[in-house]
Amino acid sequence: MRLQNLWYPTDKVFIDGQWQASASGKTLDLFDPSTGAVLAKIARGNADDIDRATASANAALSGPWSRLSAAERGRLMLRLSNLILERADDLAIIEAHDVGKPLKQARADALAMARYFEFYGGAADKVMGETIPYLDGYTVYTMREPIGVTGHIVPWNYPMQILGRSVGAALAMGNCTVLKPAEQACLTALALGSLASEAGFPDGVLNIVPGLGDEAGAALSAHPDIHHISFTGSVATGRLVQTAAAQNVIPATLELGGKSPQLVFEDADLEQALPFLVNAGVQNAGQTCSASSRILVARSIFDQVAALMAARYAALKTGPAMEDLDIGPLISSTQQAIVAGFLERGADLEILAKGQLSETADQGGYYQPPVLLKGDDPAHELAQDEIFGPVQLLLPFEDEDEALAIANGTKYGLVASIWSKDGARQMRLARGLRSGQVFINNYGAGGGVELPFGGVGHSGHGREKGFEALYGFSSLKTVAALHG
Ligand code: NAD
Repeated sequence: MRLQNLWYPTDKVFIDGQWQASASGKTLDLFDPSTGAVLAKIARGNADDIDRATASANAALSGPWSRLSAAERGRLMLRLSNLILERADDLAIIEAHDVGKPLKQARADALAMARYFEFYGGAADKVMGETIPYLDGYTVYTMREPIGVTGHIVPWNYPMQILGRSVGAALAMGNCTVLKPAEQACLTALALGSLASEAGFPDGVLNIVPGLGDEAGAALSAHPDIHHISFTGSVATGRLVQTAAAQNVIPATLELGGKSPQLVFEDADLEQALPFLVNAGVQNAGQTCSASSRILVARSIFDQVAALMAARYAALKTGPAMEDLDIGPLISSTQQAIVAGFLERGADLEILAKGQLSETADQGGYYQPPVLLKGDDPAHELAQDEIFGPVQLLLPFEDEDEALAIANGTKYGLVASIWSKDGARQMRLARGLRSGQVFINNYGAGGGVELPFGGVGHSGHGREKGFEALYGFSSLKTVAALHG
């Protein structure tokens, strides 16, 4: 497959089941991060396109979609999942060019998107209400209903995974959706439009309007005719999205990244821990909301862990996505400058190791080989702020109390992990860590779509993934019948 020859148009918006020119007729350039060359033109959707998409989704709410049983809805989603699987290789190539991900990671993302539609397709007819014992003469029960039209604003770092978890859960609950993918990378999101049509989704159930954040994104989050907004991205934009949602008194799910720590104790199995310690920080060039950018290590084994990680770093190769090395480029020259700025401001930190840049890396690409740093001040900017690049900081701690204080000492709280064989310590810390997910002797548990995910503090609120997301994308109705 050649990228010039995709099976769907890239420069259109997808509204009411049709590919259409954007209202303004304007387009934006997408760049291949591995080379810096223009990859494709996408539509520059604006408020008028969002208006049409929202109207289409609202109309679809009372169309054939609303008359499908939950099982039929689930079957459509399983069909979509199968179509994604059939196209997984193509989607991986598209994503590798669009996001700069090493091909293997891009393929894993395509499989994860298919798995989300499979999981939520299977779950669609398994979301139940309850009967509630109440006063004599009453029968009381609850029903979970669709919220209505859900808006989804997704970032560029994991387009397929994030739209799978967000749009997948919303569709399973019977909502109609408007998706605003990121302007830096949105080709696989557009592919989903064509695959949803092929699967047989009624027109208007899934609408896709690419465009700029402050145009299409702002218009979607402020639209009076959406009933829920799901946002993944930066804290600054999350605030704007939540403020806009508040004006319309609708719920907002915010997933805003983190500064996720791994806590390594004296009794940790370092051989087991080592790949997780490093991969969790450099995967996707560190552009992962749940990236582990802080490694907190017991002082007695600090030098040993530092040496082991440094040796691994030295072997890491950064290069073009299609060469499928360990690490690809960053998404953009802007992101490259952001990461370089952090490294400049962290010049007082000791550099323990750097990865290699492949000699095949194009001069125009947005490369940043990984950097492993050592610090001793948990208040340092690089120990506090999300860098969103392949940079990890090692910090020592004296004892469990200090480890916990450092781990909880940022404004974020998305993911944390504990490396220790001491069961009591594991339980104490799992309770004490201020974090949406805690992993014990692993990190990420393979990404499991079944596992509720989301943050506390500036990492956001609301949960995606697992059944929890279905509850978030539904409205609970209580019915109380007085029958004597
Ligand atoms: P961003 O928050 O600006 O963009 C994310 C999404 O929001 C994109 O689709 C964008 O078009 C949209 N958006 C932008 N402005 C908007 C607005 N005013 N209203 C509604 N939607 C809007 O993030 P970015 O500029 O792409 O990246 C900047 C930083 O954000 C990164 O350095 C990183 O720290 C963080 N980030 C985090 C995640 C994550 O998964 N948590 C993802 C991407 C970026």
